[in-house]
Amino acid sequence: MHPTLHLLALDVLSDLFGTLAHLGMHKCPPLRPYHYVHHQKTSTFHNHPIDLVVMMTAKLGVPLALLPVPSAALLWCFLFATMFTSMAHHTAAPWGYWVSLCWVVPFGLRLPPGHHLVHHRDPNRHFGENWAIWDWALTSLQNKP
Ligand SMILES: [Zn+2]
Ligand SMILES: [Zn+2]
Repeated sequence: MHPTLHLLALDVLSDLFGTLAHLGMHKCPPLRPYHYVHHQKTSTFHNHPIDLVVMMTAKLGVPLALLPVPSAALLWCFLFATMFTSMAHHTAAPWGYWVSLCWVVPFGLRLPPGHHLVHHRDPNRHFGENWAIWDWALTSLQNKP
C-alpha cells in the first residue's frame, strides 16, 4: 500500500475506534469517572491512566494491529500526526487549523480544532476528533463549533 494511503487508512481507523472508545467512556458508568478526569481540564495531557490505556489502545493499538506499518518512519508519522491532531483539538490557536489538516479535505469531512472544545462544554456532542462522519452517524454532530 502507498505510504500516504496507509497513513490515511490508519487515521480513519484510529478516529473510528477512538470515537467508539470515547463514546464507551461516556456511556459506561464504571468507566466514566476515569474519563471525566480529562474533562476537568481542557488539555491533551490531563488524563487518568485507565482512560489513557483505553484511548491509546483504541486510537493506536487497534489500528496498528489491523494495518501494521512496514517501516519505523511510517510509524513515526502516524504517532506524530495522532499526537499533534489531538493537541490541536484542545486549542483554538491558529496552528491547530493547519496541523489538523482540515484544510486538505473538502466538504467539512475533516473537523476543525474547535470541534473538540464543544465536547468539553457539552459532553453529549462530538465524540470523534478528526472525521465528521462518526458524530454524524451517532447524531452527536453539532455543525457550529
Ligand atoms: Zn479533550
Ligand atoms: Zn469526553
